[in-house]
Amino acid sequence: MIKDVKVSSSIQKLILSFQHLIAMFGATVDHELGHQIAKLTNAHNDYEMQEMYSRFMSLSSTQRGEVLSGYAGESIHEFIAEGWSEYRNNPNCRPLAKSISNRLFDLYNQHTPRLVKVRR
Ligand SMILES: [Zn+2]
Repeated sequence: MIKDVKVSSSIQKLILSFQHLIAMFGATVDHELGHQIAKLTNAHNDYEMQEMYSRFMSLSSTQRGEVLSGYAGESIHEFIAEGWSEYRNNPNCRPLAKSISNRLFDLYNQHTPRLVKVRR
């Protein structure tokens, strides 16, 4: 006979790892999307973005991990993508990721032409 407790705990573990997988997948997709938005808006050439990145790069690698991620120190491109991904996936998004994303929104709004009204 199957032990209920054991089964439910393995199912629970399976559900948890599945949820973890979905969360990781979402964060990866958003990271890549961040690259695309940055490319579209030329965000890596933006003065404000470059300022944020140089302040970030003046931190130690431990501090970088604390404020955003170690990987964000690879390049300004990864910095932007990591910021966007955190903003999209972390309900308690940290201030730097929020600043990066706010700047991306500004650049996107400046970049895209006004939307035309759709006829009913
Ligand atoms: Zn990347």
